[in-house]
Amino acid sequence: MKKFLSFTNGNKIELANIYAIASNYSKHAKEMGTTIPDEPVIFLKPSSAYIPNGGTILLPKISNEVHHEVELVVVIGKDGCNITMEEAYKYIAGYAVGIDVTLRDIQRKAKTDGKPWGIAKGFYTSAPISDVVPADTFGNEIPNFDLLLTVDGELRQKANTSSMERSVAELVSVISKIFTLNEGDCIFTGTPDGVGKIVPGNQIYAELTGYVSLTCYVENNLWR
Ligand code: MG
Repeated sequence: MKKFLSFTNGNKIELANIYAIASNYSKHAKEMGTTIPDEPVIFLKPSSAYIPNGGTILLPKISNEVHHEVELVVVIGKDGCNITMEEAYKYIAGYAVGIDVTLRDIQRKAKTDGKPWGIAKGFYTSAPISDVVPADTFGNEIPNFDLLLTVDGELRQKANTSSMERSVAELVSVISKIFTLNEGDCIFTGTPDGVGKIVPGNQIYAELTGYVSLTCYVENNLWR
């Protein structure tokens, strides 16, 4: 089934690939007991993981520890490869806030066993993404954003994207050289510190402060 992201100005774009970056804020790397990697660690989520604003995160039975990770999401507006950092802004259609929902216990075991993160990071409903703020709002600039996330009204994560170890321009450039980038691709750019558990009944609220917000609900997945 085709999926579309909505822009705050009413435009739409068909969702393509979802890339994500691990360990891009030093305080979060520290809370995970790790450090910033020498090369970016990139993983993918299937498009079936996407849910829009107002959607419900379904917790699978295989995990007892599901975490929220609030992130700036960059939406790509045109195909490109070997993009330089200086040209990166030309390929960005807009910015959204997303939650990289993570099965932390499954991810921890995968790390220990040397296995990929596909299930821990890509399960059904693991990629809520808000509406998209058009990039032309910011001219030729790639701006920094204030991000926050609350669970049932309690503040869990708050940061500015200027704390990212690798900038949006660098991530666009690197991903374009390895995978190439397509119109409709999304890049989850990493989470700041404060990640934590979510449980059925929670209401999760996230925002790019001053621009766009995302509300999600949490329930058990009754089938899996
Ligand atoms: Mg993440």
